[in-house]
Amino acid sequence: MEVAVDLHAHSIFAGGTQSLGIKPETKLINRKKGILHLAKTNQTMPLKGVDLIGTGDCQFTMWTDILKEALIEDMKGVFFLQNNNQTRFILQTEMIFTAKIGEYSKETHVIFLFPNFPLIETFRVLLDQWGVKHHKMARPFITCQSSDQVAERIHAILDLDPWIEAIPAHIMTPQGVFGSGKGNIRINYLSDFFASATSRLHVFETGLSADPEFLALIPELDDRTLISNSDAHSSALHRMGREFTVLSVSKFDYQSIVLALRNNQVLYTVEFPPEEGRFFLTGHRAGRKRPGLHGDNDYCYFSPQHVPLDDICPICKKPLTIGVFQRCVEISNTQKGKRVLGEEKPPKKFIRMVPLIDILSHVLNIRTKTAKSLINQYRRITSYIGPERILWQLTSEEVEAKLHGQIETSIIEAILQVKAGNFTFHPYGFDGVYGTLIIGQKGNYKNVNVTRSSKPVQKTL
Ligand SMILES: [Zn+2]
Ligand SMILES: [Zn+2]
Repeated sequence: MEVAVDLHAHSIFAGGTQSLGIKPETKLINRKKGILHLAKTNQTMPLKGVDLIGTGDCQFTMWTDILKEALIEDMKGVFFLQNNNQTRFILQTEMIFTAKIGEYSKETHVIFLFPNFPLIETFRVLLDQWGVKHHKMARPFITCQSSDQVAERIHAILDLDPWIEAIPAHIMTPQGVFGSGKGNIRINYLSDFFASATSRLHVFETGLSADPEFLALIPELDDRTLISNSDAHSSALHRMGREFTVLSVSKFDYQSIVLALRNNQVLYTVEFPPEEGRFFLTGHRAGRKRPGLHGDNDYCYFSPQHVPLDDICPICKKPLTIGVFQRCVEISNTQKGKRVLGEEKPPKKFIRMVPLIDILSHVLNIRTKTAKSLINQYRRITSYIGPERILWQLTSEEVEAKLHGQIETSIIEAILQVKAGNFTFHPYGFDGVYGTLIIGQKGNYKNVNVTRSSKPVQKTL
């Protein structure tokens, strides 16, 4: 059978990586918010066409307690919400590993899947032994001195149970293993960070700013399972299920899902447009607080071939935030891939799903993506089409036939333009900012060289 899974999400406690400062008297309020979040998730996922989603932050005690109370086990290791069983849940979290590589500390996010609640308790004991502040942070840091220590700790977690799965998250972003981190250090081979644990990693998350076409540039990923997840930090419609993976499984239970991942039984992934992802191009955004010197009109972004020498920002003279596109090209060259984007056959099938909410936001000229009017339109369209992903699986004629006479012509036209590939992003995503969708124009992300500054800048190379 086919199941669509989104194996990376977060709870109401994730926020960022800051200490949460939760007071005991807010426990009841949090419980209410948590249950509401699960209920909203349960309703939203069918609109996207997703059957199962990760709980996020499953080791964070306040969240674990809410999950235990709200969820009922359906098939082994797969849960649903009491009184409402549209969407299945799986116990999942994301941890932040840091390791000293040279003189800098490299951060790498890793997703973990757990088959049952008791194992989460055992996992917490390990975290306590390592001094991890898992009571204070929903997405805690596991601080390591070296890549060997990262490996030691991943081995220790995986040794707790053969069914725990570790999945490096958004591998090309600055917070992923291959992304460039502080001091622009580069990890060019998986073993540079994961050392001896590399052999126990079967599955890798592409992240929003990359897809199988970009990752086909990297030889080391050729035989690995590549999956896509939303990494949603809220239950908003434009965040949840914006990427997911369709697996072929024998049963809809935890072990079958993990086996399908390990054996690469990915039928296809549904991909967010990489160019819209927050770390697609290399650059520095306007108004960035660190390192300063970027006023509201001072920004720059570049395709790999136009990145200034030594990756230095022409405005503030500090290292640029290296984009996913640049990292894919660099790693491809280091691993002697001699591969050219678009000329490699992606290892797996995938479809690109330009977010319907973004299309509506563009046509109706409503910037706030959580606006009621946008959500109402979204619901109307999906009531005629079915889940959002169907829009990208039907032909243009089929979409037109289903929506004609029911939905405003301007909206149908915009959807058809996007389906025909007549769209771009301006700007593309860079330095933590999402790209902005423009319909009716084409762009070329391979040839971008933009520097805007209120002060004179040195000419870029
Ligand atoms: Zn992450
Ligand atoms: Zn700068």
